[in-house]
Order: sequence, then C-alpha cells, then structure tokens
Amino acid sequence: MTRQASLPPIAVIGAGFSGTMAALQLLEALPPEQPVLLCERGGSFARGLAYGTGNPAHLLNVRAANMSAFPDRPGHFEEWLSGADLGEGVVTTSAGTFVARGHYGSYLTDLLTAAVTGPGVPRLRLVNDAVVDLEPRAGGFLLRTEGGQTHRVAGAVLAMGNLASAAPKSRHSLDPWAPDSFGRLHPHAPVLIVGTGLTMLDAVASLRAQGFTGAILALSRRGLLPNAHAPADLWPMPDLRPADFASLRRLLARIRSDVARAAERGVGWHGVIDALRPLTDTIWRSLPPREQARFQRHLRPFWDVHRHRTAPPAAQTIADEIARGALTVRAGRLIAIEDEASQAVVTLRLRGAERPERLAVQAMIDATGFGHLPQSRDPLLRRLLDRGLVRPGPFGLGLDAGVDYRAVRTTAGEGGGPLWILGPLLRGVLWECTAVPDIRNEAAELAGLVAATLDRAAAA
Ligand SMILES: Cc1cc2nc3c(=O)[nH]c(=O)nc-3n(C[C@H](O)[C@H](O)[C@H](O)COP(=O)(O)OP(=O)(O)OC[C@H]3O[C@@H](n4cnc5c(N)ncnc54)[C@H](O)[C@@H]3O)c2cc1C
Repeated sequence: MTRQASLPPIAVIGAGFSGTMAALQLLEALPPEQPVLLCERGGSFARGLAYGTGNPAHLLNVRAANMSAFPDRPGHFEEWLSGADLGEGVVTTSAGTFVARGHYGSYLTDLLTAAVTGPGVPRLRLVNDAVVDLEPRAGGFLLRTEGGQTHRVAGAVLAMGNLASAAPKSRHSLDPWAPDSFGRLHPHAPVLIVGTGLTMLDAVASLRAQGFTGAILALSRRGLLPNAHAPADLWPMPDLRPADFASLRRLLARIRSDVARAAERGVGWHGVIDALRPLTDTIWRSLPPREQARFQRHLRPFWDVHRHRTAPPAAQTIADEIARGALTVRAGRLIAIEDEASQAVVTLRLRGAERPERLAVQAMIDATGFGHLPQSRDPLLRRLLDRGLVRPGPFGLGLDAGVDYRAVRTTAGEGGGPLWILGPLLRGVLWECTAVPDIRNEAAELAGLVAATLDRAAAA
C-alpha cells in the first residue's frame, strides 16, 4: 500500500513530561506526513503536575545532571540551564545541583515551543481540552473532548499521569497540587498532612510560603521520611542471576550484602540503590506475582524512601521544622473523620499509643500519592475499560500493557486502532515509570515501537 499525502494523527493524551516527550519523540520517529495531536486538559502544556509550581523551594528531587529530557543527550538540561537567566531556584550542594521544578517546566516548555514553531509544515497540533472518549472507528478512533471537539486519529498514547488518590476526604480537605488555597487557612490552627513522602515535603513548603505558621502533623503507616541525596558514589550494577529473582528475601539479602561490601570500600548505600536503576524493571517483571504482592505490602515504603530521595535543602528544611517542634511526623493510621463547621475532628491510631487519639484540625492535606484503577472516576479510563480496550494492570495500580507499551485489551475489546501507555499508568507493569530518568528512555523506546507498528500496518 502506498502512503497517503497526510496520515491521520497519533494522539497523545496528557501533556505532562510523559506526553510531551512522547510527542517530541514521535515527531522524530514517525514519517513526515504523520502529524501528532497533543491533548492537555490543564492550563499549560509540558509542565504537568510536577513542573507547574512557582515556589522556588519546590526543588527537583533528581540532580540537574540527571534531568536531561533525552536519553542520548545526557547534558541537555545542564546546557539549557547554563544559557538561562534564572535568578533564584538553583542550589548547589555537595550532593549536586538541584533546580526549582518550575525552571524544569520552563525547559520543557521551551522544547515544546520549538517543536510547535519550528521550520516546515507544523506536524504537532495542540488541543487544550480534556479527552473524554476514544470511539473505535475503522483504522483508528474518533477522539472526543469535553468541549465537544472531535478528531479522527490512527491510534493514541495514554500519558495521563497518576491515578487520583481515593483516600478518605473531609469537607476541610485541601489539594496539595493547588497550594494557592493554603493562603485561606488560619495562620495558627493545626493542619494534618496524610502521607510523609515527597508530596508532604512539598506541602510543608507550600504552607510556609503561604504564611501558615501553625503546627503540622504528618502521618503515614510507618512514618518514614524520604532520605536526602548524598554525594554521588558509583557502584557497579549487580550481576543478578535468575535465582536472585525467585524471592524477595533472597533479593534483599543480595542487596544488603552489596551495601555491606560498598560500605567496606567507603561507598554509601545510595550508590548501590542507584546501580539497581537500570535493572528495576527486569527485577519487577521477574518476581513471581506472590513476591510482587509481598513487596507492595511490606517493602514498598522502604524502597520509596531510598530510591526516591530528596534534595538536601528540602531535607534540611524538614529536619529544622521537626527540631523546632513545628512539624511532627508520626506512624499511625487515620481511622475516622468527623466534619464540623470550621474544622475536622480526626481519630488517629498512632503507633505505640494505647488508645486512639482525637485531634481537631482546620484542614487535611492528602499527600498519600496515587490511587488505584478500581476507584478511578476518570471518564476516559472508565469508557476505555467499559469497551474492553484496556484492562487493569497488576494490582489495579494502572493499566495492563505488553513489553511494547501496547495496552492489553479484554476479550470483549474490538475495533479501533492501537493504544499505547506511558508514564505512571504503567506502574504495576513496570515498577519504575514515574521519574524523568525512567520516562525519557521509555518515551524514546515507545516512539520507535509506534513507528514500527504503523509501518507494518501500512505495508500489510
Ligand atoms: C510533585 C512532584 C514532584 C516530582 N519531582 C520529580 C523530580 O524532581 N524528578 C523526577 O524525575 N521526577 C519527579 N516527579 C515524578 C513525575 O511524576 C515525573 O517526572 C513526570 O512529571 C510525570 O509526568 P506525567 O506526564 O506522566 O504525569 P503528569 O505530570 O501528571 O501529567 C499528566 C497530564 O495529563 C493531563 N491529563 C490527564 N487526563 C487527561 C485527559 N483525559 N485529557 C487531557 N489531558 C489529560 C493532566 O492534566 C496532566 O497535565 C515528581 C512528581 C511530582 C508529583
């Protein structure tokens, strides 16, 4: 079959880091007559949830040296930084340089702007609307948006970010991603943050930036705080054997022995954990499902605080808050919420306490992170699930996909074009699919696979 003058576009749904990089990589990989439609429901393209903040205390959690958007150009972000006039928000520490996340959003915006305004016939089209449906049609889908637009597309990449958390809410709950609302708080009445990970660190910085001076209680099952980055120590990638993947116990013993050997050579555990990065997906996919479930139940919080570390200045801010008694971090569970007119009374079962404790707070901030597919009310996902065009991935953490990023359908799923998945919706299939150093590789690989699939279809 010969190629048409202009082929129907490939849609990319979601323009955070994943969708932006998928779109840019697709422009490189697809034939010049194939456009790309990048759809974003939020107010800005390229920034997503992570890189839209204007608070200079919201630093990247990854060193600038490892934040290039492109796997084949490792120094690309640092080169951009050296040419940008940024003022505040660039902090150099013994563990490396950490940059405000808003600056990283500007870097991504520059990349996208260059692709939209570059020479030649524009192939990248931006649609600023929420995609609410992909109706199967011959040779692809009819993409529908909330605002009533329709577009014929040959296939789509779902890059919609994390599933929204479904943790219990109160009338006094605040969204950690909308910190402007923190400015309405009484400056002294206590606030509860549920979750003690990286989102909690952000929420504390946002509360203080909005003039809140009162007490903050941060609660999570184990009360673990993210570790801070240390000066980079290189440690070789472990040579893991199939037997090492048979059980978590065995894998953990192997990692612990590497940590001990590293310590003998003056290398910190950070280097050993970093050396596992290229292997994480292989490890995750190789673990038997029973062991994957055990990882989630018991090890995940420990993995998260070692793998997803924070910038040293952010860790120091939290240490100072704790030292002056302004922030208390506790292990425990939230067991009930009673809403009153001007406050919520929460019942907590704190680890080590004899009986539950009741506490009145003016607001609760949900910093528990991501949700699960069964609780998701996202209209696009619900429709795709109803039609069998996608199915839940392992443990309901996201969607199921093959090693080629193609969404796995149910037996009932018929018609339409191919769907691919990128970013946090792959959690469960690929364990580490949420940070730039992972997504940039996955975006490049996915674009090559999309091009190969379309090429095969055109040749058939
Ligand atoms: C606060 C925070 C800080 C982080 N810091 C770092 C860091 O320092 N370094 C690092 O490597 N990683 C960091 N991460 C990890 C981060 O998740 C990834 O780097 C990356 O930003 C994920 O991008 P994404 O595009 O997959 O998701 P998102 O950023 O969530 O983007 C998804 C986009 O899809 C849009 N969307 C969803 N549904 C639809 C729809 N139906 N129609 C149209 N648009 C839709 C949303 O509006 C959103 O803009 C951080 C994450 C968070 C949340």
